Amino acid sequence: TQLVNQIAAGEVVERPSSVVKELVENSFDAGAGHIHIEIEQGGIRLIKIRDDGCGIVKDDLPLALSRHATSKIASLQDLEQVASMGFRGEALPSISSVSRLTLISRTAASDCAWRVAADGSEQDFAPQPDPHPPGTTIEVRDLFYNTPARRKFLKTEKTEFNHIETLLQRMALSRFDIGLTLVHNQKEIFKLKPALSEAQQIQRVASLCGQAFVDNAVSIDFAAAGLQLTGWVGLPTFSRSQQDMQFFYVNRRLIKDKLVAHAVKQAYQDVLFHGRHPVFVLYLTLDPTLVDVNAHPAKLEVRFREGRLVHDFLFSALHRSLADLRP
Ligand code: ADP
Ligand code: MG
Repeated sequence: TQLVNQIAAGEVVERPSSVVKELVENSFDAGAGHIHIEIEQGGIRLIKIRDDGCGIVKDDLPLALSRHATSKIASLQDLEQVASMGFRGEALPSISSVSRLTLISRTAASDCAWRVAADGSEQDFAPQPDPHPPGTTIEVRDLFYNTPARRKFLKTEKTEFNHIETLLQRMALSRFDIGLTLVHNQKEIFKLKPALSEAQQIQRVASLCGQAFVDNAVSIDFAAAGLQLTGWVGLPTFSRSQQDMQFFYVNRRLIKDKLVAHAVKQAYQDVLFHGRHPVFVLYLTLDPTLVDVNAHPAKLEVRFREGRLVHDFLFSALHRSLADLRP
């Protein structure tokens, strides 16, 4: 099964940032209030994620490292209504097949934490007691140490860390209610407190996208036909690369989608003059049964059941707000 896991790892684990993505999504799912992310050497040497979420009971720890042992889908019917981020149950076994992984977890009801470990060849599934507080810590060391071909494809430490930082900016914009701390090589990169009020949210957007984005943006809050669009659309008048300033979330999940891109671009071109590069942080909320998120394991793509409806809704919502921005 290790070979099966390593093959699956090829799909889920491309580079350090893919590990960070899966682990932080798990912390989101666990109801964490704060997530502490510690990275060494671009994540190649160490990725350590600590959360204060629900934790895993002792008996389930070995299970969490076993293939397709997701606790998040009880039946096939649930697949239709995936509300949580994770649903494949292959992240942890895949990651542990190409690294040295330690999982420490404690539920609120337990009086101590328990630790299990696995690496590409051996699994130590007998839980050992540990003084960890309620919540979960996952340590991933020496990524791809046993798959040299994969390791060769990694870029420099700096590039790999940039991928991680970009990813976490995106994730931080998806969950204002969760605090996030990022540390690289013992240096604090950012520390974001939970942002509940609108002012705090704008502050978080400013610290992640730049003050200039916030200063040149209008907020959107538009609902029709069971769809809701909130967030900010802005004029591209700031220094950071504009390509980086496009964030579109569907039910809190960051996606890249042609239909969405088309609707956004059309609205911008219709209101502002041609050639402007759209910049936005947008959140579309809709009935989960109207969107298929199971299109790819990396989970960046979606398929809308009512594509035309979504497209026209986005276009008209954006059209109204952009009119306020016209210079
Ligand atoms: P999935 O997220 O698709 O269910 P994973 O392999 O990512 O699969 O995780 C396996 C299981 O381990 C999860 O279903 C969950 O029960 C448990 N788990 C993983 N990370 C955490 C965490 N940070 N807090 C609580 N439980 C977790
Ligand atoms: Mg998961």
